[in-house]
Amino acid sequence: MKNNVEDISCAGIIDSHAHYFDRRFENEYEGGADALLTDVVFPSGIEAVINVGTNPENCICCIEQAKKYDKMYSAVGIHPEDCQHLSGDVHTEVAKIRALLDTEEKRKNNKIVAIGEIGFDYYWQPVDRERQAAFFEAQLELAREFDLPVIIHDREAHGDCFETALKYPEVRGVFHSYSGSAEMARELTKRGWYISFSGVVTFKNARRVREVAAAVDRERVLIETDCPYLSPEPNRGKLNSSANLCYTARALAEAMGLSFEDTVELTRANTKRLFGLK
Ligand SMILES: [Zn+2]
Repeated sequence: MKNNVEDISCAGIIDSHAHYFDRRFENEYEGGADALLTDVVFPSGIEAVINVGTNPENCICCIEQAKKYDKMYSAVGIHPEDCQHLSGDVHTEVAKIRALLDTEEKRKNNKIVAIGEIGFDYYWQPVDRERQAAFFEAQLELAREFDLPVIIHDREAHGDCFETALKYPEVRGVFHSYSGSAEMARELTKRGWYISFSGVVTFKNARRVREVAAAVDRERVLIETDCPYLSPEPNRGKLNSSANLCYTARALAEAMGLSFEDTVELTRANTKRLFGLK
């Protein structure tokens, strides 16, 4: 599949949220994620990528992939949707994530910069709120114990995500592909949280997301793909990759009233600060 390519550079952009271990890359791109990263993504100028796991099994793949690339880091955690398909109880499953990062040496070797993605997902039915809450909180505790930032998935669960995150005032992190209100964004950023914008910011019907971008504290804004999903316009619906972030950055810049260059610089600095990247 060929995507539109325009002459805008991705130089200096950090993708704060990607899933390059996802099967969709293998199925839809010749040579899979490795070919895409080597031939397209890194040559586009992308400065770094945070590869984010969603269950104990794919966290291993996520780490192995990050080890292959200088510019790739990993985040490990259990996604609220995934937790409903795991056979073990919360202690058993979260212990598998813990085992990946419980020494400084492991965190360094596995290139782990965050716990994620974790949170609530009330979109996909049926929803087991109790189980999602148990996994979310156990992983917030893990983040607190190891002083790691978290990556929060909040789908149609704004109130519960907000309240749960605030129960852990020592923990900081990012609400990824933010879809909440401008007011909640303000409350979060006031408390040191970050807000990340995905390709959704380019969608015609996403006026609310652009309003959040216009209103939010600039020092708290990140940019992401969530690839292989959420490809921005003009590639909406196609396989996404970090090389599409130029479109997302352009739309975000417009919404924030900043230049493209300043938006790249700002989101890069913010991402490095949150995740402690060099
Ligand atoms: Zn994701």
